[in-house]
Amino acid sequence: MQDLFHKNRPIVGKTLPVLLPLGLDKAYDYLVPEHLEVALGDFVRVPLGNHERMGVVWEHPEDREGPDVEPEKLKSIIDRYDVPPLPRDSIKFAQWVADYNLMPLGTVVRMMMSASRAFEPEKPVFGVRLAGARPPRMTAARQRVLDLVENGLIWSKADLSRQAGVSTGVIDGLVKAGTLVSVEMPRKKPVIPRADYARTELTEVQEEAAYRLKSVVEAQNFTVTLIDGVTGSGKTEVYFEAVAEALRQDKQTLLLLPEIALTSQFLSRFEKRFGCRPVEWHSQLSQLERGRIWRAVAAGEARAVIGARSALYLPFCELGLIVVDEEHDTSFKQEDRGTYHGRDMAVVRALLADVPIVLASATPSLESLVNAQSGKYRYIQLSERYSDSELPDLATIDLKKHPPEKGTWLSPVLVDAVKETLANNNQALLFLNRRGYAPLTLCRNCGYRFDCPQCAAWLVEHRFRHLLQCHHCGFATPPPKQCPRCQAPDSLVACGPGVERVVEEVEERFPDANLALLSSDMIPNITALREILRSITEGEADIIVGTQIVAKGHNFPNLALVGVVDGDLGLGQADPRASERTYQLLNQVTGRAGRSSTKGRGLLQTHLPDHPVMQALISGDREAFMNQEIRLRQQTGMPPFGRLASLIISARDKTAAVNYARMIAQKAPKSEKIMVLGPAEAPIAVIRGRHRFRILIKAPRETDIQAYLRLWLEEIEGPKGDLRLSIDIDPYNFL
Ligand code: ADP
Ligand code: ZN
Repeated sequence: MQDLFHKNRPIVGKTLPVLLPLGLDKAYDYLVPEHLEVALGDFVRVPLGNHERMGVVWEHPEDREGPDVEPEKLKSIIDRYDVPPLPRDSIKFAQWVADYNLMPLGTVVRMMMSASRAFEPEKPVFGVRLAGARPPRMTAARQRVLDLVENGLIWSKADLSRQAGVSTGVIDGLVKAGTLVSVEMPRKKPVIPRADYARTELTEVQEEAAYRLKSVVEAQNFTVTLIDGVTGSGKTEVYFEAVAEALRQDKQTLLLLPEIALTSQFLSRFEKRFGCRPVEWHSQLSQLERGRIWRAVAAGEARAVIGARSALYLPFCELGLIVVDEEHDTSFKQEDRGTYHGRDMAVVRALLADVPIVLASATPSLESLVNAQSGKYRYIQLSERYSDSELPDLATIDLKKHPPEKGTWLSPVLVDAVKETLANNNQALLFLNRRGYAPLTLCRNCGYRFDCPQCAAWLVEHRFRHLLQCHHCGFATPPPKQCPRCQAPDSLVACGPGVERVVEEVEERFPDANLALLSSDMIPNITALREILRSITEGEADIIVGTQIVAKGHNFPNLALVGVVDGDLGLGQADPRASERTYQLLNQVTGRAGRSSTKGRGLLQTHLPDHPVMQALISGDREAFMNQEIRLRQQTGMPPFGRLASLIISARDKTAAVNYARMIAQKAPKSEKIMVLGPAEAPIAVIRGRHRFRILIKAPRETDIQAYLRLWLEEIEGPKGDLRLSIDIDPYNFL
């Protein structure tokens, strides 16, 4: 990039605010040098202190009323980056996300600029092409290369060496000899999906649903449609028709999935329907790929993007449709580096762009169901599975009546069901939403308990990796040979099961079965996950043991039995959504069973067979259960009938934390309607050596909780030194 800044140029004319990707709310004013044309949304380089930073022009020159600072004191914009400006919708969206979540505007804009390579000129990539000169000496290897380049096309060296089965040295030799010439490769553009590449023959019910979606996409204005369809009903097939319509309208589509659902199964389904893979956006892309995708989205070359929640911050220039699949999934809620709910923000993104959004789930969130009931959202129900496959039969196993033998975790009823499944040459899945071998380790001799030195939490044994690990801070240590307190050798006992312990039991009971373990800590990356899922799909495992990573969106055709090892896990938490979430998770995981012709079964081990969640699952009467939950939330003023926000105060020094938290609570503006609860010590009282206190704010639905919080926070001194204060609007986590 040329440096166009001249220090001695006289200062004249315009100033504009530039927003920097820092934890700040305010844009800084900069002078616009005469030679530079800048407009709203342009990415510019500006001086800041002794550094140069990238920022975004945050106002349109024409809207400018004037700077608040004397022009003499201002610095100048250095240069403009050669990329399309941040679209207006993205600017409005950033403002909205910041206001709603009480996040500094700069933090939101930083997410929009996270693909730093997009702003560097793309380095040319060189390949080779046939030049003509005959090599002085011909070898078999050289001949193989020549056979391939004969057609005159440009090859990358890597592709050519792979296909010809030669080392790159052979190719370099041919370049030297003048047989090949090095040329710049044309830039790769994403392939454009084709709306009518391979239409699926839909059932009548699906067709009707697809028709409704097609019309909302045609209308191209803001509408929210909830597709509520049982697992296997063809929701994906149906919303693919909405994507097809967006393609026909020449609009971009953003498809949000929980990260873990970005599986190759999903991508190949997309490819089958539209003739090419979609553009993918997730946390494991390289910087180079991120940069390329960012540019392709900004230039309108990427027509369909499949991504995790951060894809909301991509600079779509012709957005025409957003789809959020598994909309109930709590992983859409981001809790580190700024808290926001991806699904809710997606609805806002659609509203600001005035485009339709489709939410899909087999177990919609209570919030979305309420919006559908009130008519705010359009509602499409698919209550039958595609083809003949029926929904699985679900039953509970009462652990009081049929307890597992001592030291084991599977009830005889479940063990028999697994046996039967294997005898029929089908697959069985055992689900336990707890990583590791055991959640607690004790000394048999003195009762010593292994706690995390930095957190108020037990260390979880991971036997396969030979570690005791904290699930809150990542602290890990190999299990000692003797008790650290009483020195008794080999005295450690594991208490309670994690998935690894279930694996151990399964290995003992079914020594001949092929086993697959699916637990996020055992899977290094998305590629490895895709490989495991593929092998399971192809029937390479007889028994699958997994955490919630197995619950999402996969389709294992041969899976006939799902056994839930601990159905009660998650019910005991002080969380207004505990029942709803447990229901969703167990419904999703049991819904994996019987997706093809075999009739599936789900067995839920529980101590609470009469609990409404278990009853709802086995009766299949979701509506009654959800309506009961809705009434409960209504009576207690919980979301969506009331608003919640959390303030989390932490410090290394407990007294400092509690004093600051109390001071904050005392300064709460008086209000008859808004309740301020706490401060109370957080359920996980210490994380990473920081003591934590929580304040919960509960307000009626119609209140502007953000305005209230802003008023409040203006009255208090910001956190100093080691103190930290974080704000969580619509909290999903109460720990
Ligand atoms: P959901 O998203 O509701 O779980 P899917 O769209 O994944 O449902 O469909 C479940 C399975 O049924 C998939 O394997 C899908 O390919 C198949 N399927 C659904 N509808 C059709 C259809 N109309 N024609 C062919 N296959 C279909
Ligand atoms: Zn810890």
